Amino acid sequence: MLQIDKSQLNELKKALSSSKNIVITTHHNPDGDAIGSVLGLYHAFRAKGIDSRMVTPNGFPDFLGWLPDADKIMHYSRDKKGVEDLLSNADLLFCLDFNGFKRVEDMAEVLEKSPAKRVLIDHHPEPESPFHISISYTEVSSTAELVYEVIEQIYGESIINYESAVSLYTGIMTDTGSFSYACSRERTFAIAGKLIAKGVIVEDVQGLVYNNFSENRMRLLGFSLAERMKVYPEHRAACIWLSRNDLNTFKHQIGDTEGFVNYPLSIKGIVFSVLFTENEGFVKVSLRSRGNFPVNTFSKLYYQGGGHKNAAGGKAFMGMDEAVKQFEELIAKHSIELNS
Ligand code: 5GP
Ligand code: MN
Repeated sequence: MLQIDKSQLNELKKALSSSKNIVITTHHNPDGDAIGSVLGLYHAFRAKGIDSRMVTPNGFPDFLGWLPDADKIMHYSRDKKGVEDLLSNADLLFCLDFNGFKRVEDMAEVLEKSPAKRVLIDHHPEPESPFHISISYTEVSSTAELVYEVIEQIYGESIINYESAVSLYTGIMTDTGSFSYACSRERTFAIAGKLIAKGVIVEDVQGLVYNNFSENRMRLLGFSLAERMKVYPEHRAACIWLSRNDLNTFKHQIGDTEGFVNYPLSIKGIVFSVLFTENEGFVKVSLRSRGNFPVNTFSKLYYQGGGHKNAAGGKAFMGMDEAVKQFEELIAKHSIELNS
């Protein structure tokens, strides 16, 4: 079991007992771990009779919309005034699955201005310091796993109901690629087992998340692999690039390209994969690796981003052609590391 620092836990218990307006938030473009963690904590609080509100900087993919009470999450992008009011009256703010305010994009100012005590629960390396209570552990598979530990160590596992369990399970499942990476600790599977004991049906969650895509998304994946993937075997690297026009052709919806970046890593010998998607004013960069090549360092160096050793993100402030050309130069420069 992961023993969370006792003084942090005590601080948190004290804060919980003295707070009236609790808000739970997560990073921009929230993924399964982000939404699963937010809802997992929300439902555990509810079971304990504690009211809280949930806020995300922007919308999340459709394949997470079935999670219990996902429709109660407020989106800053949709309701700026509502979120500003909520946060200006909050006295306790949970920040889940991100390690610095930059990760909430334009909602950062609202968080900074909020008088609330800030609690971080996160598994990314090098957390920044605008948090009063920082529960940060990188060895866990996901933030959802860490949220489970926090709930169990504060209230005991009996407080976890089905709604909380299915949310946390979804977070762990999505952040580990269905238990295929970042989960070689016995404890991750023990927690998954405890969540299953609360009524989670593994096949159903898998189906709801991964067998629930639109036809357009499937065809965009096919197009990406057939027409937009470049492989550089000499550098053990690959990339996929998608222009705005490509995305529009396939009627792109938020979340549609989730997972694309992993496909090139299934090619024999490829250890580094990058997905470039064109946005307004920049190219979004999503990076993955297998083994020792640290994509968070790479992203920090070249894409003003960060993340985990094997999964990171960032931005390239240039056009698509330039971004791909720069990438080709960078993998040539890092070829020795990539081949070692
Ligand atoms: P994704 O490629 O799925 O967007 O992100 C992969 C990982 O990198 C996630 O753990 C995410 O938190 C992190 N990440 C994504 N984008 C950024 C970014 O712009 N900055 C930082 N620091 N981390 C990011
Ligand atoms: Mn995560």
